[in-house]
Parts: sequence; C-alpha cells; structure tokens
Amino acid sequence: MAANTGPKQGSFKAISRRRGQFALAAAIVASALIFLADALSPIDGAVAVLYTGVVLTLAPLGRRFVIGSGCITAVLTTIAFLIGHADDPLGGALLRYIVSLVAIAITVLLSLRDRSARTTLAEQARILELSHDTVVVRDRSDIIRYWNEGAERLYGWTRGEALGRRCSDLLESIVSAEEISASLEQNGTWSGEIIRTRRDGTRLILASRWLERRDPDGRPVGIIETSADLTESRRALAERRSSEQRYSTIFNSAGFAALECDLSKAMRLILDSRGPSQDCEAWLLSNPQILRAAANEIEIYNANSAALAMFEADTVADLTDGNALLGQLPDSEPALAHIFASLVAGSSLAEIETRCATLHGRIIDAVLRVSVLPDGQDWSRVLLMAFDVTERNEARAKIEQTSVELAHAGRVALLGQLAGSIVHEVNQPLAAIINYGKSGKRWLTRPDPDLTEVADCLEKIVSNGNRAAEVVGRVRALAKKTAPQVSSVDMGALVQDAVSLLAREARAAAATIRVEEANIRGPIICDRVQVQQVIVNLLMNALHATRGIADRPHEIRVRIDGTAENFIKVAVEDSGTGIEGNPERIFEPFFTTKSDGMGLGLSICRTIIEGQGGRVSASNNDGWGATVGFTLPLNIPAEARWSKPNILI
Ligand code: ADP
Repeated sequence: MAANTGPKQGSFKAISRRRGQFALAAAIVASALIFLADALSPIDGAVAVLYTGVVLTLAPLGRRFVIGSGCITAVLTTIAFLIGHADDPLGGALLRYIVSLVAIAITVLLSLRDRSARTTLAEQARILELSHDTVVVRDRSDIIRYWNEGAERLYGWTRGEALGRRCSDLLESIVSAEEISASLEQNGTWSGEIIRTRRDGTRLILASRWLERRDPDGRPVGIIETSADLTESRRALAERRSSEQRYSTIFNSAGFAALECDLSKAMRLILDSRGPSQDCEAWLLSNPQILRAAANEIEIYNANSAALAMFEADTVADLTDGNALLGQLPDSEPALAHIFASLVAGSSLAEIETRCATLHGRIIDAVLRVSVLPDGQDWSRVLLMAFDVTERNEARAKIEQTSVELAHAGRVALLGQLAGSIVHEVNQPLAAIINYGKSGKRWLTRPDPDLTEVADCLEKIVSNGNRAAEVVGRVRALAKKTAPQVSSVDMGALVQDAVSLLAREARAAAATIRVEEANIRGPIICDRVQVQQVIVNLLMNALHATRGIADRPHEIRVRIDGTAENFIKVAVEDSGTGIEGNPERIFEPFFTTKSDGMGLGLSICRTIIEGQGGRVSASNNDGWGATVGFTLPLNIPAEARWSKPNILI
C-alpha cells in the first residue's frame, strides 16, 4: 500500500498545481474585464460585485489568495469608482461602490471560514487515514463509501477495489445482526466483537464500533464502522493461558519437590546490608545472623504435593519460610549462602547439595536447584526444585564401602599369591641377621676381640633388619583395610616398590623387569595403596603370561609417561602369550584363562583406577606379548572419587 501512496500523491499535486495556475489566469482575466466594464462602461450597476466571483475562484488556492484577491479587487473597485464618478462622488454610484466593497468583504470572510472548515475536515480525514484501525463508511444498501488505509492493510482490499462494492460481498462476517440492529435503533451505536474473513481467507477477531449515519432529517443513511484487530493479542493470550496451564500441570504432577518462592525481600535485605565489592558467599558465612534473617524473608507461596511429602508438611502454609525449609542445620548455611551469592552475582540458576531437616525433624540429603522465572527478575518468582538424594547417597556409601572391601580382598588375594616371595624376602635378611650375629659373637669371644669387625657385623644386622622391616611394612600396607586415602605419590618410586616386592617372582619366572620414566612432571595425587595394588596386579599377570615361553627372553617393561598435560600413563608391556580374544574383556569380572584364577583381579583394578578418574586399557603388542596399563589424572577430580561402582556390573 505504501508503495502506491507516493506516486498517487505526486500526480495529485501536479493536477492541483495545474488547476491553480488555470484559476489564477482566469481570475486575472476576469478582474481585468470587470475593471474595464466598471470603469469605462456607462452601465449604472454594481458591476464590482462581480469581483466576488474572482475571490471565490481563487479561494481554493489558499488563505493568502483569498485575502490578496479581496484587497486587489477592493482597490480596483475604488479606482474604477474614482475614474467613473470623480465628478459626482456622492450620488447613487457611491452606494453601489459601498455595496460592492461589502460584498467583496463578506465573500472574503466567508471564503476564509469555508477554508478553515475544509482544512479541519481534511485533517480529520488524514487522521482517519493514519489510524491503525479500519474505518469503513457504508450506505444503507451496504455499499462501501469510504475505506481507509487501515482497512486496506487489514482486509487486503485496496480502496479502489473496495469503494462501490457491497461490504458483505467483500468481507464474510460473523456478527449478531439482531443485536446490532437493536442497539443501533436504540442508541445509534453498537460495539462488540466480530469475526471477519480477510481477502486471503484468514480469519480476524475484531473489536468493532458502529455508528449510525443520519441525514439532516434524522433518517438513517448508513453506518460508520471502526474496527481494531484483536487476533494477535487473543492468540498471545490463549498461548499464555495454555503455557500457564502446562506449567501448572508440570508443577503439580512433577515427581520431584517444586516450590514457588518470593525471594525479593530476602535479596533486598542482603543487598542493603552488604558492603561493596565483598565476596558475598564468604561474607554471608561470616554473618550467619544475616543469612538466617534473609532465609526468614523467603516467602514460599506454592508447593506441589511432592514438596509437601518431602518436607513432611500438611499444607503450603506449614512451609512458611526458608528456615522452615532448610531447618536450622549448620549444614544448610553454606547451601543458603551459595544460593544467595549466585543470585547476587546475577545468575538465574543455582544448584547445590545440602542436608535439610523435615518439619518432623528427619534429616535428609537434598539437591536444591533454584531458578529465577522469566517474569520474576526481581526475584519475586523463583522456582525451587528439591531432589531427595538420601537413598542415593546411602546406596553410594554402601557401594563405596563394598568397593573398598573388594579392593582389600583383592590385595589379600594378591598377598596370598605372593606369600612365597614374601617369606623369601623376609627370610633372606633374617638368615643374614643370624649369620652376622653368630660371626659377631665369634669376634667378641676371641681372646683378642676385634671390635671393628663386631661393629661391622652389627651394622649389617641393622641394615638387614631394616630390609626385613621394609618388606613387612610393604606387606602390611597392602594388607591393611583402609578407607580411600589420597596423598602425593611419586609414581616412579611406587612402581619400584612393587617391582621389589615381586623380585623373587621375577627370578622364578626368569624374567627381567625394567622401569622407564619419561617426562615426569612431579608427584601425582592418588591413593597410594590402591594404585600399588594395581601395579602389582599388572606385573603379576605379565609374569604369568611369560611363563612357559621358551623361544624368547622373558622381558617386562614398565613405562611411566608424564608427557600429557593432565594425566600420567603407566603401561606394563610383556613378551608373553598375548591376550586371547578381545583384549578389553580381561577387565570383565570373572574373566580368566587360568585354571586356578578367579578373574577378579583386573576388574578390581578397573574399579580402583576409574574411581580415581582414570582409565584402564589392554592391547596385544605388534610382535608378541601384551600391554596392559592405565592413566590417572594428576589430581583426582571431585566428581570421580570412587563414584563409579562398576565392579559388580
Ligand atoms: P586371574 O589372574 O584370576 O585370571 P585377572 O583379572 O587378573 O584374573 O586376569 C584375567 C585374565 O586376563 C587372565 O586370566 C588372563 O587370561 C588375562 N590377562 C591378564 N593380563 C594378561 C597379560 N599380560 N597377558 C595375557 N593375558 C593376560
């Protein structure tokens, strides 16, 4: 539509300019003729009255033309009067002169008034055009007489197409005809909603006002109708209602506790009390009275049945504030501080696990998730979801305990396999101690005791005693049943320790064990005992795999690689039989190829390594033998700590 307006207006202007020029020329010619007739002709009449025609001709050109033509014609009238009647100025000619001037003046005044009325009307018509609403004027036969731009835009018919057509032919309307005609008859107006089909067939909902047009005698001659489009707002309203409905259905039927809260007062209290640029969480924790006061200001105004059940409340009113919800437990303070601090930092989402007390005092573990709803940016509408994780945590604790026990059982089983070696490792220094003791005694009981030799024997006794104590210490460490304990561990030393423990096994298998280290950046944080258990297990399996191999040396290489930025890699490479079938299967519980095997060693190893955020791997070497190893992060990620209870899967 807008594209049509420009050229239309342009051509309209050109036409009116031409008309103006023509009117001006006609007025000049007419003025000249009237002047000549008035001044020179012998007619005794008020010829100058004809100047009113000149004024009227120029009236459409504007106010200036009306006033100008009035002045000029008055001057011409005066000149003609003076020329024609200078000798007898006070006769009947004077009266005609005055009548002419009055006629010109009245014409000027009336033209000016008419112009201002026309200007007002034109402005009003322009306003109708500007209106976003549709304005349609119809006559008694429903023929369209006026159709504004709003109607063009909304209904899709141009003014040219609409004018002169029956409105009912153009627009299919669903209206209550009886109600409308009754209202028009009674009040002359009607307002209400109508449904109309526009040109492209789509339906519109309109808020419509109808006004009856009447002629000067009061007879109805048609209707002026103005309508506003409600379709979009109705659709938005319906959508909003349905989304609210959806929200409330989800809220009420959710299987988890959901509460709607107003946190605005609590947040205001915190923001007003807090000094600038402070770490909000730390500040709240060091001011528990403010934290509790803020919790007191939390207003819980809605809760679903799962929430009532979780907090053992009968009604929403029982859950009055944040303190009722989180109890007075010291554990809940850090959770509250974290949530408030997150919101203060501008986050619209905060999540934390905490312990809370139900209204009956039962302590539960809960994950709280707070999210600011889109229409509650001042924290006045906040959704609090609570997930009871008590059972999950208990189950996890049990699984952790089971894992610890299994790992211990694995170590004890390992030690059982190593019993021969251990006895040997302890026996050797013991035998040496006995020998050195005997020879020391001999040196002493000589007639001339050699104290230097005695001292030497005692020193050897001490060092062999230490060696035996070391072996016993290592065995005790492995045999001890401890909860997972992290410490700073030198992986090279840990591997060397395990290799020493297996020295006799290696000799028995006629195998050499070499340890290679590359790019070690420093100690890592892990559970020393458990990781050593894994290394011993891998070495035992490697030694076992080389047994019976006759055509090549029995070689085992332990490679410790610290090249990667975030983890360390340990691989035990052997020249043994290689792994039968899919190498990854060796980590499955009860997978064994040994007649006396249990098939649990490596699955325990996997649990240990994954529990510390690492990965195990196994593959056959290109030539012969296999490589079984693991990676461990330099520090155990918190979420990985013994949280993968896959040993029983
Ligand atoms: P077990 O020693 O009781 O069999 P493990 O879980 O320690 O239990 O080992 C499972 C199986 O994995 C072994 O029986 C063996 O078949 C295979 N395996 C483990 N390490 C190696 C290796 N280095 N070379 C070949 N096979 C291996």
